[in-house]
Amino acid sequence: MHCYDPYAWLEKSLTTIHRADWYRAVKTIAGRPGAKIILDGHEVINFASNDYLGLAGDERLIAAAIAATQEYGTGSTGSRLLSGHRKLHRDLEIAIASLKETEDAVVFSSGYLANLGTITALVGTRDLILSDQYNHSSLKNGAKLSGANVIEYSHCNVTELKTHLVEQRQLYRRCLIITDSVFSMDGDLCPLPELFELATEFSCMLLLDEAHATGVLGERGSGCVEHFGYSGKNIIQVGTLSKALGSLGGYVAGSNLLIDFLRNRAPGWIYTTGLSPADTAAALTAIKILQQEPERRTNLWNNINFLKEIIVKQIISQQTSSKQIATSEQPNLKLLPSNSPILCFQLPNSSTALKLGQQLIDKGIFAPAIRPPTVPTSRIRISVMATHELSQIQKLTTILKNIL
Ligand code: PMP
Repeated sequence: MHCYDPYAWLEKSLTTIHRADWYRAVKTIAGRPGAKIILDGHEVINFASNDYLGLAGDERLIAAAIAATQEYGTGSTGSRLLSGHRKLHRDLEIAIASLKETEDAVVFSSGYLANLGTITALVGTRDLILSDQYNHSSLKNGAKLSGANVIEYSHCNVTELKTHLVEQRQLYRRCLIITDSVFSMDGDLCPLPELFELATEFSCMLLLDEAHATGVLGERGSGCVEHFGYSGKNIIQVGTLSKALGSLGGYVAGSNLLIDFLRNRAPGWIYTTGLSPADTAAALTAIKILQQEPERRTNLWNNINFLKEIIVKQIISQQTSSKQIATSEQPNLKLLPSNSPILCFQLPNSSTALKLGQQLIDKGIFAPAIRPPTVPTSRIRISVMATHELSQIQKLTTILKNIL
């Protein structure tokens, strides 16, 4: 048999990725997270972080992580079912259930794993999944892995979703509707009231990924479910501890039955090591701070609204009034609709987005370019934090305006 290098295709594949401007390289940050960071040796204002409430560098989270490490050590030493867990793990789950106003919650090692584990436990080959086209990769891969028949409906299109349900629902044993609550690459919200109504009418389970909504939306910061005035009953809420809660890990919140079932049936929980004591303690402290300091959320929303206002005043209205013709050198910026800290400027192609992202870094602003295949259209993605100063937000738009 003719022998050849079985890994030779890797280089070719990487060359194709480079040619399409899809190549990604990781940047290095020095020091603690915050509104200002040192990125590859240069100080920049950080608009690339999911640390929406500015808690990841908070002294109280750091102190809690150190204390937990001193008391319990660094690792959880094994799967919680086999090796036992710490009281801290249950304390965190009870705190999440209280924040989400659900009967119980279970903590996974990451948000990604929480979605994989939950979806694969709930449905199988005899079942149907209806999934928003713009869902996060963890929902999409969880759906694939489950073996269920997956139908993607157009982004937030409840009419199309209903058509699928009318045509398909009765052919399957169980049906699960899955959606991001805040879409991670656009920043808009799912139409929860309509989804809930359809889920009820067609006897479907409804799973909401609250990764970008927890700590951000709702009077108490509980998320999108609270924002729309629903309760935890009949909605499966998945989320992460790694964004507004400044730690690491994922969770599912819901009924006692659901959580008990997942503890017994979710391989992504059963066969993996429990969350580290440090991450668990940091997340628990973050939830307490979230509940005690609502002003953080107020600051966040003031910053989001300020940024939207000056983008319209300084950039969008100027483009419109000067009837600027867009070129790849001078692209027109289109702001995608958003109800969250995630604001995106849509751009014509990957190379324009990459160029603008680099120009921003050169001027001291870190707002990354997001390109296909992660998203269908290239964009600059801006994440607002509660700890940004108004002058930093102002600087972002002034620099954007000057570049354009
Ligand atoms: N869901 C969504 C919508 C996300 O944006 C992310 C993280 N990018 C995840 C799930 C995964 O969470 P984690 O980072 O905790 O794995």
